[in-house]
Amino acid sequence: MRNLRVDSHRIGADLDAMAAITDPDRPWTRRAFSPRFDMGRDWLRERFEQAGLRASLDAGGNLIGIRAGTDPEAGTIMLGSHSDTVPDGGRFDGVAGVIVALEVARMLEEQGIQLRHTLEVVDFLAEEVSVFGVSCIGSRAIAGVLPPDWLDLVHEGRSLGQAIRDVGGDPSTSALRHDIRAFLELHIEQGPVLEAEGIDLGIVTAIAGIERIEIVLTGRPDHAGTAPMDRRSDALVAAAALVTAIDAEARTRAQGPGHFTATVGEFSIEPGAANVVPGRVRMLIDARAETRAEMEDFLRWIESQLTMLPEGITAESRLLSDNRPTPLDGALAAQLEAAATDCGASHRRMVSGAGHDAAFVAKIAPSIMIFVPSRDGRSHCPGEFSTTSSIALGAEVLAAAVIALDMQKGNRDAPSTD
Ligand SMILES: [Zn+2]
Repeated sequence: MRNLRVDSHRIGADLDAMAAITDPDRPWTRRAFSPRFDMGRDWLRERFEQAGLRASLDAGGNLIGIRAGTDPEAGTIMLGSHSDTVPDGGRFDGVAGVIVALEVARMLEEQGIQLRHTLEVVDFLAEEVSVFGVSCIGSRAIAGVLPPDWLDLVHEGRSLGQAIRDVGGDPSTSALRHDIRAFLELHIEQGPVLEAEGIDLGIVTAIAGIERIEIVLTGRPDHAGTAPMDRRSDALVAAAALVTAIDAEARTRAQGPGHFTATVGEFSIEPGAANVVPGRVRMLIDARAETRAEMEDFLRWIESQLTMLPEGITAESRLLSDNRPTPLDGALAAQLEAAATDCGASHRRMVSGAGHDAAFVAKIAPSIMIFVPSRDGRSHCPGEFSTTSSIALGAEVLAAAVIALDMQKGNRDAPSTD
């Protein structure tokens, strides 16, 4: 173990304490807008205050711990991630980035390091898809891109707007920020690359765009015993060939220079009876690409496939969601690489196939992410695991980058003497 300025035991203890705040008899479940989530936040708020941070909630319902800088003009360096989880997963997803941000603030305090910039530790509200069916509520709010009509989404009689008020936010007020000079988010990789290559840290250069494409194939339902094989329009047989073609196409595209995946993750057939030829299939494609050009090319390919269906099968397609790829900040990436090298951590650049709060913060401030290895690449499941030592090394690099950034910006932004 390298000699670190951050305290890896403290990081491990905090992660254990948050892991213990979970729905009864479920492994690591702290769903946004649930009482368990509020308990996690109460615990975090207390830890923020013990660390000397001033804890507050912004209008978007984000919990923020503030450490004032020496220069009120310098702006804010923000660190953090999210403390909500998916069901039955999330021991490290999100919360690792919040705890590490807290540890960086504690380490600076203990070492007596004063920053020119105000440092903020953030726990973004509801990054995961919540009971309202939408994600990244707090980071969208801070970026000023939370769709106003989302506030009217209702779950069990409560609107999202009310739910944001219930955690202490105020959706009638803008949470948009203009003072953030840099946002740095540590997160677990949630994939197998770093572990497989034996590399300590990933520097994330882009967050892939995500498209959800609904395809409905319509054939003709018939009697399974009397309809001759050569006179059928079986929607499932056509859909099966399409699913296989999508997988093959995605494998080819994944060999290219940029990150690419495509998955058929939802699939249903009608009428769904043993003695009826399937007349209708609905499927949902999740496609992720590093560049918009690659995604547009894939969407054209899908459309071309739909013109080549067997006779008697018709297709309709619809784009259900369209999230553009987000390139992260090149200067911050270089800063993190230098910090990693200084700390003796091996690193590589990579693209995130998963969505993150940083994709929204990047709309208003230079943003960057750092990944730590995930055991067996597993995530969003009880088996999700990252070692405390790997997370602590990430924290050390993050701290070094923050200190360097604060000094560098100090030179660049030095107030004039007149
Ligand atoms: Zn996450």
